[in-house]
Amino acid sequence: MGLLSLGTPLPWEEAKKHAHHVRKHGIVQFLNIWNRIKTRRKDHLLWGDEIEYIVVKYDDANKAAKVSLSAHDALAKLQALEMEEIAHGRVFESSWKPEYGRYMLEGTPGLPYGYQLQDVLGVEENMVRRRQLAMSMLAPGETVLTMTNFPRLGSCGFTDPTAFATPDSGASMSLFIPDEAINPHARFPTLTANIRLRRGSKVAINMPIFKDERTPSPWMEPSPSCLTNHFTKSLANAVAAGCSNGHVEETVAATKLLNKDRLPSLPELVPDAQPDHIYMDAMCFGMGCSCLQVTFQACSVEEARLLYDQLAVVTPVMMALSAGAPIFRGYLADVDCRWNVISGAVDDRTCEERGLKPLHTDKFRIKKSRYDSISNYLSPGPMYSGGCNTPADGAIPFDKLRPKGAEFYKDAYNDLSACYDPEIYADLVAGGVDDLLAKHYGHLFIRDPLVVFREMLEQDDQASSDHFENIQSTNWQSMRFKPPPPSAPHIGWRVEFRSMEIQLTDRENAAFAIFVVLLVRAILSFDLNFYIPLSKVDENMQRAHARDAVHRQRFWFRRHLIGDPSRKLGDLGCKCPSVSGQTVGHVVYGADAPAPDTTDPDACDEMTLNEIMNGKPGTSLIGLAPLVRRYLQIHQPAISDDTRTRLEAYIDIVARKASGDLQTGAAWIRAFVTSHPKYNKDSVVSEEINYDLCKAIDALAGKKVPGLNC
Ligand code: ADP
Ligand code: MG
Ligand code: MG
Ligand code: MG
Ligand code: MG
Repeated sequence: MGLLSLGTPLPWEEAKKHAHHVRKHGIVQFLNIWNRIKTRRKDHLLWGDEIEYIVVKYDDANKAAKVSLSAHDALAKLQALEMEEIAHGRVFESSWKPEYGRYMLEGTPGLPYGYQLQDVLGVEENMVRRRQLAMSMLAPGETVLTMTNFPRLGSCGFTDPTAFATPDSGASMSLFIPDEAINPHARFPTLTANIRLRRGSKVAINMPIFKDERTPSPWMEPSPSCLTNHFTKSLANAVAAGCSNGHVEETVAATKLLNKDRLPSLPELVPDAQPDHIYMDAMCFGMGCSCLQVTFQACSVEEARLLYDQLAVVTPVMMALSAGAPIFRGYLADVDCRWNVISGAVDDRTCEERGLKPLHTDKFRIKKSRYDSISNYLSPGPMYSGGCNTPADGAIPFDKLRPKGAEFYKDAYNDLSACYDPEIYADLVAGGVDDLLAKHYGHLFIRDPLVVFREMLEQDDQASSDHFENIQSTNWQSMRFKPPPPSAPHIGWRVEFRSMEIQLTDRENAAFAIFVVLLVRAILSFDLNFYIPLSKVDENMQRAHARDAVHRQRFWFRRHLIGDPSRKLGDLGCKCPSVSGQTVGHVVYGADAPAPDTTDPDACDEMTLNEIMNGKPGTSLIGLAPLVRRYLQIHQPAISDDTRTRLEAYIDIVARKASGDLQTGAAWIRAFVTSHPKYNKDSVVSEEINYDLCKAIDALAGKKVPGLNC
């Protein structure tokens, strides 16, 4: 999860004194990178995926599945193996990183994939081998699962070995999550504690419960039995100490309730816990989830900015299609995605910043958590270099290049009025950065650094980007614009697509990653225009959460995706000489399609995921999957039939998730639970159901599963 530095982390009271220093130097470090490589061109379209795994330990005798805290040891072995290979001058096929949960692993390909389409075909195999390698490091009875959320994360005794939450001490002070579940690297407990301390209370997440036939209404979660047994006193202390959101009277009332013979429900006991909601109170509930991310290198900074904008619109669509999180803390939820949980899990905004109190000590009213959808489009700005790897580009003088894609951007799309730090903005503009990019960083830099290492305070701003990354990598947004690190001069400008949930099988993980890769190619080759106002993208983000969004939701999307329907393909550069002269409109829509309605070229409508992905018959909306297929036909005429068939199979998976022909992971999990013989129709995912569910998911690995991935 981004930057990992070593050293002595400062406690929050100390760290916050250095916030200004970190921000100031962070911007100097960015400007140094910017000025060094802003005109760099012709980097290749490299890319790579990240997969997060959850290690599970089975207790077969008791039909229980727990998260295994020894994943941390498996990670050490994986990293040692990787280092050994590198020391021998070999490229290791995978690379392993720590994640927030002590029970988690993160694996990426050893090297990024190249821009050749054949590379794409190795992706699934690499994912399969990654899983096998991780499995080979585990203790008997353990397995790795690619599930977005461990269904009973935060339920009584969910870890192996068993550990107990400590509501009145430690990093989380959670009622549910023991600190032992957190990766012990100093960064993670420090982040956890400092988010809580900066906010002034524990984080508070409430996800709606799924109301089944026998779920009481209102649903008031009974206090978990482990709290009854071990923590009644600690809970009273925690509540009395105001580690809830600080509503004094309610806290006192809750404390009194504890003295009665009946243990009160969670909503009665904890001011932040809402009736009819599953309440969560710690960073682990979000950062302990697994996701699928894809990073792309663009040929230039302008192309990276263009991709950032176009892909941002697609993030909610892909999140809904990849939905994988229908259960939290052992209860079926009325949502299918993790995003709002993780957003709430690291929400370090103070009461003033959240708008609950007038601004007094803090500087900004901030609308979103640090983990949220993007708040500014970046648009390539006035000059865009066009295609990447084409020799002809080099022949055109830099200042003669016409903006492509940039011309689609309008200020009206940037309609969130995201606040920004005027001082940071001014420093950036004085350093030669344009308005939009200065606003982007001015916005990210309204945040404080959360983890400050004493040893890292003084840095060489030419050689390091550590202060910059400190803020940048704790702005966890749906897209990330990644400048190259100064230590790796061969790396270019990258963007990261961050909204997708992890899939139950490698086949689906490959399909989702590959679909986004091909979509990037289609965007660049066809000059696609996905722009809609960001407020609508935000609305889509919320709709994407809904249970069964494929069947029950509509999403804002552009009616016309072709930037200029009359543009000749030959105008797009020399990437496709064989088809120059054909109009994109003709080629993409098909000869008999109705002429595009150009009365409002920027119109956006509410559409189903099926319409967005597969098109809308009788209209000009072609759909993302047909666009990607068109890209392969037109721009990759030379690929073999075998390659084409295999790519089509991946496109097909994503397209059929959208049509409802294939289930999302969330739908599959939900159906498994609700059809389990021990399920009581009361929203409860018991230890035994969870065990059977984990075993069933385990059995999917490496298989073609009709209705899910084929
Ligand atoms: P983070 O966790 O900060 O997002 P990681 O290093 O975990 O970053 O993963 C980044 C992904 O980007 C990996 O899949 C990696 O293979 C890929 N990658 C690395 N270098 C490049 C590059 N130059 N261009 C595109 N992708 C890259
Ligand atoms: Mg990660
Ligand atoms: Mg990573
Ligand atoms: Mg993560
Ligand atoms: Mg990442």
